[in-house]
Amino acid sequence: AQSVCAPLPVLGGDVTVPLVTGGEVTYAALDYAASAPALQRVWDDVAAYAPYYGSVHRGAGYLSQLSTDLFENARRTVAEFLDCRPDDQLIFTRSTTDSLNLLAAAVPADCQVFVFETEHHASLLPWKDARVTYLNAPRTPRQAVETLERALADRDPRGPALVCVTGASNVTGELWPVRELAAAAHAHGARIVLDAAQLAPHHPVSVRDLDVDWVAFSGHKLYAPFGSGVLAGRADWLQAADPYLAGGGASRKVTRREDGGVAVEWHESAARHEAGSPNVIGAYSIASACKALTEAGFDTLVAREQHLIGKVRAGLAGVPEVRVLSLFGDDTPRVGVISFVVDGWNSSHFAAALSAEYGIGVRDGLFCAHPLVRTLLGSDPQTQGECGAPEAAPGEKSLNAIRVSFGAGTPDEHVERFVNAVR
Ligand code: PMP
Repeated sequence: AQSVCAPLPVLGGDVTVPLVTGGEVTYAALDYAASAPALQRVWDDVAAYAPYYGSVHRGAGYLSQLSTDLFENARRTVAEFLDCRPDDQLIFTRSTTDSLNLLAAAVPADCQVFVFETEHHASLLPWKDARVTYLNAPRTPRQAVETLERALADRDPRGPALVCVTGASNVTGELWPVRELAAAAHAHGARIVLDAAQLAPHHPVSVRDLDVDWVAFSGHKLYAPFGSGVLAGRADWLQAADPYLAGGGASRKVTRREDGGVAVEWHESAARHEAGSPNVIGAYSIASACKALTEAGFDTLVAREQHLIGKVRAGLAGVPEVRVLSLFGDDTPRVGVISFVVDGWNSSHFAAALSAEYGIGVRDGLFCAHPLVRTLLGSDPQTQGECGAPEAAPGEKSLNAIRVSFGAGTPDEHVERFVNAVR
């Protein structure tokens, strides 16, 4: 523990909350997988820039020029953070959900999409207009690769195909074999998009090294504030697609046609899919977070996170009523996202008690990954509740779970308090 670095300073680190048992306690934010607290450094960078911000791309004024530079530099910083190829495009979006919907809107009309049923709904659901094959939950990383290979071998190889896969599960925290899945996709002439919403905050993501065609992530899980995300990768499908949003900024030239309509030439750069005034502060804050994480060093951050994971796992293992959820088995490498159920406890009541009695913020429910959580709980889809629906009666199987998640800003005391509270 001595060699583990200190947590990075984050917002909200000294917020106190009242306890039902009387008194108050500093809030222990253990729901990083939903939204991580912003790094103090990101907030400081935004505060330093805020007085100077102006409209980007079209303003002649000094502050507009400054903001345009910062916005385009942010694009370069994030592309560098993701180790993008020189001709990749990086589009600023609202979130991972937005990024994947953008890509879904841009895939060629005859594209076949392959997606595991275990995905977060953001990567499971946007493909409605494509021909989608939903792959059954694998129980080992190797089975994931074999399942994909079998499905791709059966496809019609003439048309385009896309595989969508998560890098780290938002439910179990388990790492998926992205490099192997990318190799399998490419061997069968398919492309692959990586949902890095949970991976990027915890591990370096190299588009080149993983050999993925696109990557998507959200700023608010990467220690930047809400409202901005990224889609980066191959330019060709994006340049050939209709703009995600139609409007100013995406259009290079608009003229009236003789028949009374309008003719539009769209940009081919990232601007094609960034119509309207962009979220400049959002882009700037993601770039600031990328710099802060790079400067802190992922080796150091991973070592600290593994130390926290060890504490939580050891603590939960000492409570016989607790069952930690895992798709691939206990030995699988994971990020700081751990879901569990407690025998004899309603998960929602359990999570509410952690908050009310200990000042600990976790999440309960199905985590926007209903098929995965059902598989993990072995529950029947017909009786399975919706998000936030009532829990199983005592003695029955749990219908939802509790999730604890943490990261670069988490002090040891938070996970120690959590383990003691569960105990
Ligand atoms: N993918 C994964 C793996 C996630 O965990 C999440 C957020 N829980 C998303 C996608 C969607 O991210 P956002 O809500 O920021 O769009």
